[in-house]
Amino acid sequence: MALKCVKCGLRLPPYPPKSKCEKCGGTLEYKISLPKNHKIKFSGKLHFWRYINLLPPVQHIVSLGEGGTPLHKAERLAEKIGLRELYLKDETRNPTNSFRDRAAALLTSNAIDLKHDTLICATNGNLGASLAAYSAKAGLICHVIVPKLVDVGKLAQMLIYDAVIEEFGETVDDSIHRAEALANETGWYQATAELNPLVIEAQKTIAYEVYEQFGVPDWFIVSMGGGGTVYSILKGFKELKQLGTIKPLPKMIGVQPEGCAPIVKTLVEKSSEPIKIAKPSTRALAVLVANPLQSELAIKAIKESKGLTLMISDSKIFTAELQIAKLEGMFAEPASSATIAALEKLVKKGKIRKNDSVVCLITGSGLKATDILQALTKKQKTAVLGLEISTKEKILRILSKKDTYGYDLWKKLGKIMTRGAIYQHLNELSERGLITGYAKNGRKFFRITKRGRKALRAIDDLKLLL
Ligand SMILES: [Zn+2]
Repeated sequence: MALKCVKCGLRLPPYPPKSKCEKCGGTLEYKISLPKNHKIKFSGKLHFWRYINLLPPVQHIVSLGEGGTPLHKAERLAEKIGLRELYLKDETRNPTNSFRDRAAALLTSNAIDLKHDTLICATNGNLGASLAAYSAKAGLICHVIVPKLVDVGKLAQMLIYDAVIEEFGETVDDSIHRAEALANETGWYQATAELNPLVIEAQKTIAYEVYEQFGVPDWFIVSMGGGGTVYSILKGFKELKQLGTIKPLPKMIGVQPEGCAPIVKTLVEKSSEPIKIAKPSTRALAVLVANPLQSELAIKAIKESKGLTLMISDSKIFTAELQIAKLEGMFAEPASSATIAALEKLVKKGKIRKNDSVVCLITGSGLKATDILQALTKKQKTAVLGLEISTKEKILRILSKKDTYGYDLWKKLGKIMTRGAIYQHLNELSERGLITGYAKNGRKFFRITKRGRKALRAIDDLKLLL
């Protein structure tokens, strides 16, 4: 297994893992060197190291039990979308709840083989969380450079696993430059995804697993940040083809959020230079990358597999996240929920047909993300507010027909809340001048005021809008 330049063909020994060709600046990648039609037989438990023969050489293995994640048949989601066969590759089931644990296992193993004691990584979150955990396990020092916006759950993981965290830059693009400079200065092991070709090797094992669990799907949908993942999945399938194990390849679909879609734009606008996004914005922080360094690789994978790319709005991503959770019991992070939103769009457009088989890559857990928690709290608040309005409205409607007292109102409202809550509402309605109280037969009766009737009419008018 050697490193080979994709541009000029220069061959280098596998280690140290370098990302750029010294001669022409092209991307370096690993080439497996098994003879054609070599009958590869995977053996042992379904987990990451099952594929060690198809990875660059490893001596010391660092493992927390990564890989071997389930491939769920998503029947309810498929029915909703109008598809026969949909599978979710559930990478949230890795040790730190993201697909990056595969990369962290290989990188920390390699760092130890190469006698490093410190590694550095620029990250949007998942890889940092993974490396922090694996470094802890291996007794390595882990430096993490993160941009301003990072999902809180991922940051919490880096903290608890005792990584050295530095905040640098607006987006991860800046953090990558910082990590590159620091590694050059210090000689630390470079573990940034875009700067170490072992990451692609680690992530390609997802393709091997899907092949073993299902076979080759017609379509494979992946969200894109730096651009490496979509490439690594296709690379895995291509190697299986090279070995004579499979024939057709899956068509790769790369998805990006509307507010940050440099790869989609480069491809759609047929730009010769990769397009950079000046003011990127999305709540899917895992794919907030303005100037993806592996854009070329992503485009190559999409073109070569006759796949396609598309953009998805943040609101569609959020809806998809709720759907995956409600219909399949899986809590996916926003970036990977975009794959389901994309699938829905493509099925509607007829680009993906009912009988096509599809795999969506669920890269990480929604529990790590900041946005969903915020969005859900907001949603809950509006729901509670809605309930309050409706109780007050109901009280006004009852009183608009006939004056009555608190206990009677409580019965009429179906006794679903405490009597205390009813009196609270009555007090608030009185304070606002919508009702007024008076004593009759030793009881406190309530009557709707002119203003109260006006409010009811306003609610009716408002309902015309809904
Ligand atoms: Zn070269």
